[in-house]
Amino acid sequence: MSGEPKREWTLNDFEIGKPLGRGKFGNVYLAREKRTKFVVALKVLFKSQLQKNNVEHQLRREIEIQSHLRHPNILRLYGYFYDESRVYLILEYAAQGELYKKLQEYGRFSEPTTANYIKQLATALEYCHRKHVIHRDIKPENLLLGLKGTLKIADFGWAVHTPSSRRRTLCGTLDYLPPEMIEGKAHDANVDLWSLGVLCYEFMVGNPPFEAEGHRDTYRRIVKVDLHFPDYISEGARDFVSKLLQHDPEKRMRLDMALQHPWLVSQSQSFSD
Ligand code: ATP
Ligand code: MG
Repeated sequence: MSGEPKREWTLNDFEIGKPLGRGKFGNVYLAREKRTKFVVALKVLFKSQLQKNNVEHQLRREIEIQSHLRHPNILRLYGYFYDESRVYLILEYAAQGELYKKLQEYGRFSEPTTANYIKQLATALEYCHRKHVIHRDIKPENLLLGLKGTLKIADFGWAVHTPSSRRRTLCGTLDYLPPEMIEGKAHDANVDLWSLGVLCYEFMVGNPPFEAEGHRDTYRRIVKVDLHFPDYISEGARDFVSKLLQHDPEKRMRLDMALQHPWLVSQSQSFSD
């Protein structure tokens, strides 16, 4: 399934297996390419739903971006095809499913486990940023786990090529959005650094740092950077998160520095599965 040279896929090329999950615009199924027996996840999107929600443009961009990324911590998009009523995305199968579910199951992760995930995430983001892609929607629901527990960033629906001054319509949770995006200002790759800090906190604590009852309060806590740590969080972890959660995008710790941070280095070394 190398995808090259370009080959037209049809539904007939696949055996469809169990449903893996339900998405906003359709469902995801386990599937196997008949000729090679290669196992994939087939994401089925209904054109009518895409049109109704005016997201065809976004889907095109997602396909364009994700199909060109090759990194062990980024979910591969092998190709796509469509028929009268549906669009099909041929995706790498993430056998251990959503990281979000694992976090719910455990409540929170230890610092070595957190560091191990954050390191993989930072490596993937460094790769994206080098290709001038910013993800903009890093949150636990968009992280999947491979067969051996390898973290895979999925869902490039909000990703863009930099530079971008696009304003994003705010829907769903604000928890992972940096001040500059909430305030509708121009933003760049530094937005992903903020999200990395939010996620690191959430992995260790069990909920995101600026959680509040309503949108207004979450908003307020984010722009104030109203950050507090439970007692059990180590000094090193606090330092790491605080250096990412800087209001000024320019002051956030860069990915190369994050990957060299003593807490990340030491904790990810003591990680064992
Ligand atoms: P979006 O997050 O862009 O709104 P969605 O939520 O509609 O999309 P997905 O998140 O892509 O749809 O998929 C729905 C669910 O299916 C996921 O939460 C996950 O549990 C499962 N799933 C999706 N892709 C895969 C995959 N490649 N491997 C295993 N499970 C997957
Ligand atoms: Mg999703």
